[in-house]
This record gives sequence, C-alpha cells and structure tokens, in this order.
Amino acid sequence: MRTVIVAGGGLAGSEAAWELAERGVPVTLYEMRPARPTPAHKTDRLAELVCSNSLKSNALGSASGLLKEELRRAGSLLLRCADAAAVPGGAALAVDRERFAAAVTAAVESHPRIEVRREEVREIPAGTPVLIATGPLTSDALAAQLQKLTGSENLAFYDSISPIVDAATLNMDRIFRASRYGKGGEDYLNCPMTEEEYRVFYQALMSAETVPAHEFEDVKYFESCLPIEELARRGYDTLRFGPMKPVGLTDPRTGKRPYAVVQLRPENLRFSSYNLVGFQNHLKFPEQKRILRLIPGLESAEFLRLGQIHRNTYINAPALLQSDLSLRSTPEVFIAGQLSGVEGYVECIATGLLAGLAMACRELESTFTPPPRTTALGSLVHYITHADPRHYQPANIAFDLLPPIEGLLRSVARDRQARRTRQCERALADLDTWFGMVRGPLSVVGCTPSGGATQFTAGN
Ligand SMILES: Cc1cc2nc3c(=O)[nH]c(=O)nc-3n(C[C@H](O)[C@H](O)[C@H](O)COP(=O)(O)OP(=O)(O)OC[C@H]3O[C@@H](n4cnc5c(N)ncnc54)[C@H](O)[C@@H]3O)c2cc1C
Repeated sequence: MRTVIVAGGGLAGSEAAWELAERGVPVTLYEMRPARPTPAHKTDRLAELVCSNSLKSNALGSASGLLKEELRRAGSLLLRCADAAAVPGGAALAVDRERFAAAVTAAVESHPRIEVRREEVREIPAGTPVLIATGPLTSDALAAQLQKLTGSENLAFYDSISPIVDAATLNMDRIFRASRYGKGGEDYLNCPMTEEEYRVFYQALMSAETVPAHEFEDVKYFESCLPIEELARRGYDTLRFGPMKPVGLTDPRTGKRPYAVVQLRPENLRFSSYNLVGFQNHLKFPEQKRILRLIPGLESAEFLRLGQIHRNTYINAPALLQSDLSLRSTPEVFIAGQLSGVEGYVECIATGLLAGLAMACRELESTFTPPPRTTALGSLVHYITHADPRHYQPANIAFDLLPPIEGLLRSVARDRQARRTRQCERALADLDTWFGMVRGPLSVVGCTPSGGATQFTAGN
C-alpha cells in the first residue's frame, strides 16, 4: 500500500495521520518544529494549542458541543486526549495544554504505521497522496508552493472579518431595503447617514482604540481589505468613496441620495443575521460596539461577531475543494485544518478527521460519503465547499450552518433552546446512520470505533 504524506503535525495533521494509520494506511508525518519554529508555537510537541486552552462549550445544546460529541463518536484521537487532559472550565472543555499535547505526541509517535519526520515540507510532492495541514502559520516556502498550485487570488494571508449583526435587533424604521442602482432586488439593508451623522461617526472612529498587532502581524494590509479605521485615517471622505459610498441608492423616506450609507448583506437564507459590508476593522471590541451603534438603525444592535484582522493562511475553499477535502484541480492533494478555511481548534480537528477518513477510503479503494448535511461535521464541510467564493470567510461551527428542522410545533419553533436540542438529536441520529455506511467497507482493515459516546448536559 502507498504511504500517505501528511504535512504539519498540528491539530488537523495529527488527527488525520491517526485516522489513516488506524485504518491500515501507512503515513509519513512531517512537522517542521523544533528545527523551524513558528511565531506562535512554544514547544516541539504535536498538536500544541497556541493560545487559549479552551476547546469551547461541551454542552450538547451548543454547536461546538455537538461537533465535539460527533468527533467523540467518530473515535477522534484528539478529543479522547482532550477529555483525558480536562481541567475545570465550567461548561467549556478546557485542557491542560501540556498533558494534551504530550498525549497526542506519544500516541502518534508510537503508532506502528506512522513515521514522524521533523522536517519542513518546502514543495508539494507530486504523484503521491498528500494532506497539507500546515495551519495559519504555514511556512513561507510551502505557502509559495500553495499559491502556485491554487492561484494567488485563492490563498489569503490575513483574515479580515466584518462584524455580523443579529437581524432581530435592527431598527427597521431607520433602514431601507435596496440594491445599488436597483440591481439584484432588495437583498441589501441600507443604513443612511446625514452629513451630521457621518461627521459624528467619523470623529468617533478616528479616536477609537485599536487592538495592538502581534509581532508577526505587523505587515501592510492588502489594499482590497483595509480596515475602516485605516481608510478613515487616509481622509475625511475616503470611507464615503469606499464601503460607505451612497451612489446608486435613494432613501425612500427622503427621495434623496443619503450622504453616506452602511450596507448590510444577509448571512443566510433565513435573513436572521447580516454582515456589515466592508466593515473589517481592528478596533477593541467594546469600542467597536460603541462606534457601530452610532450607525442609524444599529442603535440597539447585538453583534453575533465583531470585526477582526489577524494573520491566517487559508485557501478559498469553495472555489477549490471537493467534499472529500481534496483539490478539484489536483485530487491527490487534500487540505485540512485552518488552511482549509475553518476557524478554531475543534473545527481543525474535525476537518483533519474527515480528510484522514476520505484519504483512507481512497487508498482502500472504497467510496467516501461525506457526513450528512444535518450533522455538525457535514454542515462544516458543506459550508467550506459551498459558500460564496466571492466573499469567502473562514467560519466556526454555528447552528446557522445547520439546516433548520421543518414542521416543528409552534411552541418548539419559538423556543431557541428547544429548536437546537432537536437539531442535535437529529444530527446524532443521522451521524450513527452515516457511520454504518463509512465504517462498513473500512472494517476489513480492523477499523473499530474507539472512544465511547459521552453524556452531555443540555443548555448553552
Ligand atoms: C496566534 C494564534 C492564536 C490562535 N488562538 C486560537 C484560540 O485561542 N482558539 C481557537 O479555537 N483557535 C485559535 N487559533 C486558530 C486555530 O484554531 C489554531 O491555529 C489551530 O491550531 C489550527 O490548527 P491546524 O491543525 O490547522 O494548524 P496548527 O495547529 O498550527 O498546525 C500546523 C503545524 O504545521 C507545522 N508547519 C507549518 N509549515 C510547515 C511546513 N512547511 N512543513 C512542516 N510543518 C509545517 C507547524 O509547525 C504546526 O505544528 C489561533 C491561531 C493563531 C495563529
């Protein structure tokens, strides 16, 4: 059997290597540390958690709790190590990061079918199956190779995230629906500003506190994703010629073109949340809320996500990836982890597990069926492979990514927690059916589910 190459011994790479090896496929895992460090990792361990020691909520009523439960049921090595290294963290799964990384390192290094090489992968090997899971801080040499393979327009080095607002908290008395020049129906919500409102907003923005950049983030921004505070610094009217331009829009209440406009684009087909178009920024969170609430219609807005800009290497997944996480253009190359356009520790583990499983299926000549759309695993992969490639931004798992349940009793439909509980029950039932499909053909190589299902408390 061919040996599969896994580049990157982080969260996704370690999980994928284990998944492949457990299913009988030999693996060579390349990890460049300690010979070549990254600006964030501190040790030579595999699966080092670079920042927080929290893997977020463990509660089954939360999207992150559901994803973790699915990973446990799928036999994830990293979830098993995390549960074993848990420290008190309230509803969250917090871990002793040293014990966690030590346990993963020991398991991977001692697996008879995994060879760990402490070397940087500088070129993408041709003619052999390879998984690239080198994370947000992928080395420059490999990033250049990836750029060659995927096209420079499809590889990002910075995440510039616009805020997302809860639709239920918008003041629609101040907002009007329209697309610029009437093209595209009434998809956008528009927050019109008078000259005075713009002046107040501009002055508040100019004096707002920004987040200090890390040493490795201290680079020039791409012109196409400049933060609003940087645009404001360039001149009083720069925003009015950029993300706040009013051209092609008429406020039906005045019959006139507003002085400036903030546009909101729907985040989902339920129109339950909206993205502030072009409003990526690096402001401190409390400052950001204060300033964004100066926008007409957003006076009482609740934000589901705030703007951020940070170092992150990731591909434009919906333009490039198939549902088994291989590249459409080069199917021998698979991508997982943060590089595949997901965000967060558990999401990286999830894509590592799925890419490992898909590669094992390929090597064992069986068909890989992606997890059902109704599961958190399936929804995550569906998002990264089907989102709009023109505005692609990495995502954490969220209930918004899962399809709603149709035909619920009104009392259940109105109760957010009850709705989510139903979504979790459906997800876990559908996941068990899926296991029957993917485990069946793979059981010939001794694949047995490892790790049992865990009991969870309901709630957030
Ligand atoms: C500074 C920072 C802080 C973060 N904090 C959090 C947080 O608190 N919570 C959260 O949920 N997410 C956080 N993230 C996001 C993300 O979840 C983590 O970065 C996560 O570890 C990514 O998993 P991964 O497997 O994709 O990559 P990593 O875990 O980073 O693993 C990639 C591995 O590849 C190696 N590598 C890189 N290039 C090469 C090469 N050419 N050859 C061989 N090896 C290579 C690296 O040394 C690394 O070990 C953070 C990201 C960053 C950059």
